[in-house]
Amino acid sequence: METILKKERLSEWVAQIGARATVFAPAFADGIWNFCAVAADTKVEFDHGNTVRPAKGFVFPQREVLYRFRQESGKAPELMETLPAAAPTVVFGVRPCDGRAMVRNDKVFTCGFNDPYYQARRDQVVFVGLACSEPPSQNCFCLSVGGSPHSEDGLDVLMTELDGRYHVKAITAKGREIVEGAAALLDKAQAADGKAAAKAHADADKHPQRALATMEKVAAGLKEHFDSPKWDELARACIGCGACTYLCPSCHCFDINDEITSNVPLTGERVRTWDNCQFPDFTMHSSGHNPRHDTGARLRQRVSHKLLYFVENHNIQQCTGCGRCISHCPVGIDIVRVATEVSGQ
Ligand code: SF4
Ligand code: SF4
Repeated sequence: METILKKERLSEWVAQIGARATVFAPAFADGIWNFCAVAADTKVEFDHGNTVRPAKGFVFPQREVLYRFRQESGKAPELMETLPAAAPTVVFGVRPCDGRAMVRNDKVFTCGFNDPYYQARRDQVVFVGLACSEPPSQNCFCLSVGGSPHSEDGLDVLMTELDGRYHVKAITAKGREIVEGAAALLDKAQAADGKAAAKAHADADKHPQRALATMEKVAAGLKEHFDSPKWDELARACIGCGACTYLCPSCHCFDINDEITSNVPLTGERVRTWDNCQFPDFTMHSSGHNPRHDTGARLRQRVSHKLLYFVENHNIQQCTGCGRCISHCPVGIDIVRVATEVSGQ
């Protein structure tokens, strides 16, 4: 379903959706572009780079309570599950690399075992994507990892900027619902609009990006050079801050802890929080032995998970080429350079 929205009516559409859902859109707050809740009078604009934080937090929050517990002395414990409350949410301005990351996250949380916390959020969040007319960062490389500046994967709607208008394409049933609900604001797209969107996409593909060798070559090279001394060399500057994985749209490792609020009776919460493979204690055994005891081993894990292990498990790369881990690493560690140098491709 393809429609056209005049640019000056974008805020009207957002306000209309805001009457029945919480709406988020990129905004400049606290010195960074980030997804922020949109108030009724907010003017929504898309002329920005990618957000610093990815969209994954809408379906996999940094901290969430899985259940609460209470146990009186001598009695069986009571467990109170805390599934996410109904909270319809629409997120505007999601870049295609973050949409593709959702497909990767779905594979982790809903294939084999269906994570009810993730699924409950995924079902009620609508991702309205924004095609990139040019790479929003000098570190983008979506084309090298099977994506594109106009990929529809993982998105419910894709908006493409044309002259003074947006081409708005509903991709999923959730997407169709919000597009159909705005029939008074959106005009049916004509054949010429479809052609203009296709041209905008083709033009976007021509912009230079960072580049990696093919998925097969990189994966084979990383496997062959598992013991390469380059891992230590390239990881030497790493300070283990974890920014690379926290800001990655497809990193999904978590830890689970009990937070005790009272000892008598015993009450508390079982809490899931993001964890980080770049932290030394991520793989620390209770014996004190750590199989990934240095930064080289931890960098190898991060890069190999993205470009080798995920390929072996799912036949797609986990990395979607957003470039955040490069742009925001305080010491300049660069996944494209690392994968290229280690794999020899
Ligand atoms: S952002 Fe850079 S310094 Fe921080 S953990 Fe990642 S690679 Fe290391
Ligand atoms: S590994 Fe880096 S470039 Fe790839 S998706 Fe994650 S943050 Fe983006």
